Amino acid sequence: MSTIPPTCDIAIIGGGPAGSSVAALLAREGFDVVLLERARHPRPMVGESLIPHFWKYTDLTGATPAIKAEGFIAKAGGITVWDGEIHRIRFADFGFERPALHVERDVFDLLLLRHARRCGARVFEQVSVTEVIPGDQARLTWVRRGDGETARGTLRCRYLVDASGASSLVARRLGRRHLARSPHQFLSFWGYFTGSRFIDGEGRARDAEELARVRPVTFVCAYEDGWIWHIPLRRLTSVGLVIYCDRVRGLEGEARQRYFLDTCARVPYLRDLLAPARFVEGSLSGRPDFSYHVERVAEDNLYCIGDAGGFVDPIFSHGVLNAFYGAVLAALAIRESLHDPARRQRHAQLCAHRLHQFYSFSRALALGDIGVNGVDFELVKRFMRSVPERELELMLAVSHITHRTRHFRRLIEASGLAELGRRLEDRARLLECLSM
Ligand SMILES: Cc1cc2nc3c(=O)[nH]c(=O)nc-3n(C[C@H](O)[C@H](O)[C@H](O)COP(=O)(O)OP(=O)(O)OC[C@H]3O[C@@H](n4cnc5c(N)ncnc54)[C@H](O)[C@@H]3O)c2cc1C
Repeated sequence: MSTIPPTCDIAIIGGGPAGSSVAALLAREGFDVVLLERARHPRPMVGESLIPHFWKYTDLTGATPAIKAEGFIAKAGGITVWDGEIHRIRFADFGFERPALHVERDVFDLLLLRHARRCGARVFEQVSVTEVIPGDQARLTWVRRGDGETARGTLRCRYLVDASGASSLVARRLGRRHLARSPHQFLSFWGYFTGSRFIDGEGRARDAEELARVRPVTFVCAYEDGWIWHIPLRRLTSVGLVIYCDRVRGLEGEARQRYFLDTCARVPYLRDLLAPARFVEGSLSGRPDFSYHVERVAEDNLYCIGDAGGFVDPIFSHGVLNAFYGAVLAALAIRESLHDPARRQRHAQLCAHRLHQFYSFSRALALGDIGVNGVDFELVKRFMRSVPERELELMLAVSHITHRTRHFRRLIEASGLAELGRRLEDRARLLECLSM
């Protein structure tokens, strides 16, 4: 086993998309970066639908060629069935030249971690950070397990990035992580099927074998306890339920699997897609209570990015995008602070402000929460004015596909974007039915 050093410029907790990306960016600049990851990659992870603007971040980190070479499924767009209405969004209608993807996250995250290593970051897997003591020289305590041995140690760093995902290690320790107060508090179960049919960009069901030549959509449908995703991957299809917590609290083990499979077998359209499919035994996983937000995601030499800094209902596939965005902002702020330590606090504030804007926007769009749960009305307006046109158009169009965006529409008006919003309504096209 290689030795974890006692000191470094930047220590990163977690090797998901956020951690690997910030590591790659800073290591490429020649800084001494150490990344500690609890798992051994490839490790399972949920979050397989990526929207097309993620590429601009992997262009910056340099991971784009490896992602392209992997040959993940390119998707045509999304189709939703919500409150009896069927909407279709096609990314090509917004002028995106590069595709949105369906990715196996174990493969995708491994690829990003390897890229961070290639960029010069020192990456240590099977190392859990157990304690964090902030300060000018922040100190981490770690435990390393592997090859039948357990080792313990500490690491001091000038900058610390918490990219530990839903663990939100630093924010929890500092009492800064808050579960959202809202009717929209969720948990999720998901599992995998072989041989599922899928829906194409025209709303037609296709057989599994056609996936090699026909682009699928991410299919989403609401049901009485929440909503469901159907994401065709190369070999398996990922199906997940996002459920209002109060509907199924306490459902464990076999009862949980029964609820999952019963739901899959009875919800219209989904049951048709899964009719020829087989559930992969043992593949059911879950995530308890979300959403949550974090106060002060960046200050001094401490940054919380990706899910470690906040998480909302994943209905619009913002999670990985947010992880990349946070990585780019944190890398920029840390680089500038290392060059000019006198302005360290200012760089952290700017980064925190931007991260908070994105969180507020995601939450307002996905859940319609405005003025609560850390969502700041003014920040959302400002964010919408700063987003590149194509991305803004896509976001305004998707705001038509669920019933949660009533308040968000008011925000669109208040931001002076009502006219644009109306023009985009037909890009979230209403379909009469899906052809099964
Ligand atoms: C049900 C559900 C569905 C989702 N669907 C989508 C989707 O379709 N599209 C999308 O873009 N996003 C989706 N997401 C969100 C997406 O999964 C996350 O936003 C994304 O993985 C965040 O990346 P990250 O790097 O911040 O964290 P993660 O990917 O969670 O990585 C964190 C890493 O930190 C490591 N770690 C944790 N604690 C420690 C520790 N103490 N010491 C060392 N290492 C540690 C973990 O092992 C892990 O590898 C979904 C989320 C959920 C819950």
